[in-house]
Amino acid sequence: MSKFEGSCHCGAVTWAFSLPIKTVVKCHCNNCRKLQGSDYSSWVVVPQSQFEVLSGQDVVSLYKANETSSKSFCSTCGSAAYLVNGKHFPGNFVLPLGAVNNYTNELAPQIQVYTTDKAPWVNLHEDEPVFS
Ligand SMILES: [Zn+2]
Ligand SMILES: [Zn+2]
Repeated sequence: MSKFEGSCHCGAVTWAFSLPIKTVVKCHCNNCRKLQGSDYSSWVVVPQSQFEVLSGQDVVSLYKANETSSKSFCSTCGSAAYLVNGKHFPGNFVLPLGAVNNYTNELAPQIQVYTTDKAPWVNLHEDEPVFS
């Protein structure tokens, strides 16, 4: 399979992306903690040309986190739809791994970042390289 689809919780916003993705990153930084409300977050990084919103663009709200980064989310259910991280991944969309409908091994996290910020109870995975 080379095409993946995902959605927000209520299903209004749906999107799709195709392989090859740039990476799948497991991030422990404070920004991701606050944006996702979780002790760490897993993200699929996809070149913008390989991503499309299939439905619900009219209910997507944009939150600008800073000069180069934003979080687009569903106005109905509040789930993150897609994010932009212009500092680390310019030209890509950053998608919440948990929003993908169909998991395959191609979406297994590839790198772990901001591990110095990680919560003490979160264990690093030995088979995923630590990038920072
Ligand atoms: Zn929704
Ligand atoms: Zn992060």
